[in-house]
Amino acid sequence: MTTLSPTGVADDADDAAALESVIDTIIGPQAGEVDSTGAYPRAGLQALGRAGLLGLVSATEAGGRGGDLAAAAHVVERLAGVCGSTAMVVLMHYAATALIEAHGPKDVREAIAAGEHVTTLAFSEVGSRSHFWAPLSTATADGGAAARLDARKSWVTSAGEADSYVWSSRPLAAAGTMTLWLVPAGTAGLHVAGAFDGLGLRGNGSRPMTADGARVPLSAVLGDDGAGLESAMTTALPYFLVLSAAFSLGLMEALTVEAGAHLSRTRLAHLGQTLAEQPVQRAAYARLRIRTDQVRAFLGDTLAALGAGRQDEMLRVLEVKAVAAEGAAEVADGAMRLCGGSAFRKELGVERRFRDALAARVMAPTTDALHDFIGRVSCGLPLFDGEGT
Ligand SMILES: Cc1cc2nc3c(=O)[nH]c(=O)nc-3n(C[C@H](O)[C@H](O)[C@H](O)COP(=O)(O)OP(=O)(O)OC[C@H]3O[C@@H](n4cnc5c(N)ncnc54)[C@H](O)[C@@H]3O)c2cc1C
Repeated sequence: MTTLSPTGVADDADDAAALESVIDTIIGPQAGEVDSTGAYPRAGLQALGRAGLLGLVSATEAGGRGGDLAAAAHVVERLAGVCGSTAMVVLMHYAATALIEAHGPKDVREAIAAGEHVTTLAFSEVGSRSHFWAPLSTATADGGAAARLDARKSWVTSAGEADSYVWSSRPLAAAGTMTLWLVPAGTAGLHVAGAFDGLGLRGNGSRPMTADGARVPLSAVLGDDGAGLESAMTTALPYFLVLSAAFSLGLMEALTVEAGAHLSRTRLAHLGQTLAEQPVQRAAYARLRIRTDQVRAFLGDTLAALGAGRQDEMLRVLEVKAVAAEGAAEVADGAMRLCGGSAFRKELGVERRFRDALAARVMAPTTDALHDFIGRVSCGLPLFDGEGT
């Protein structure tokens, strides 16, 4: 796994202020409606683009902010606490941008940096499901300079909304298991193949997509034919795993803060006491706080491992999404119980975040897959069967 050295170029204070402004004026006020209607959070994304935050991880030479993974994690964490759908769209955009930055054309890199282009990952497939490392979709030569893509993708965040898709297929001609392509929206033969009516993240537009003879130039390959898995694992995966942990942490923090506020302001009138003055509720709240702080510390250590190129960076990166995703499900369930009927109704926003918090553990690599990877790395085994044989 390559080291992701922080570039530290972005002006963190300016970016943080711009983010809070967009959250306060657009994303926060629209979050409830995005959840209830399932509408794609277009206005918030456009405002993030104008604020330079869609170009946060783009290189300065392309016009981007040159921000590091820690800066991106901060953005995703803050967004997730307010609007999970927007956070998921931005998370996928940053992970796909990392691949485009490494292998993509300058004009697309510049459009992303300018906040005018949203991209995403189209990895998961109907056939191989969460096993994204084993695409079944194909790329076949179509004349001398083009390829024909045929695929049934099961989930693509921002499907039909993004400007491009970082798309996996089996290799065109080379050995290996995967080739990556940059597929522009509007490519003939590309279709959104269904609606999204999910439990949570209801505005993230994670819909199935198909490619039926979608024709792309051979220059649309990201990296080398057959080298897609290596690129995905070394470039996109660290972004995806770390930012997914930040996403879970944002939900945990928001849930913990909301639960604490509820306990402090809600009274048992017959006792003349707040809920926070009840020892059992107080202890339950403490468990939420501890779990959230544990995940924050783990994410911080993961970023430190990456920043220093520490020997355990790969292990930490694999661990952090599992730690955070399970923590988020636990804290969300705990907040639902602690806030009682007030949480069960929609008045606190706890119920929405509870639903949003259940996504990360089933997003690939799922917690189960990560446990297998972590076991393999810890036991000195290759990540995938057949490697190194
Ligand atoms: C909100 C949301 C947004 C998404 N956005 C995208 C996106 O933008 N791009 C994209 O490519 N994908 C996306 N996905 C898809 C995601 O990454 C997973 O591929 C998908 O959630 C897996 O669902 P499935 O039913 O196919 O899982 P399955 O593969 O059927 O797995 C079901 C369960 O079985 C477990 N399991 C599977 N295989 C094993 C195994 N070998 N050992 C032990 N347990 C196993 C899994 O851990 C999981 O708990 C998104 C998913 C969600 C929920």
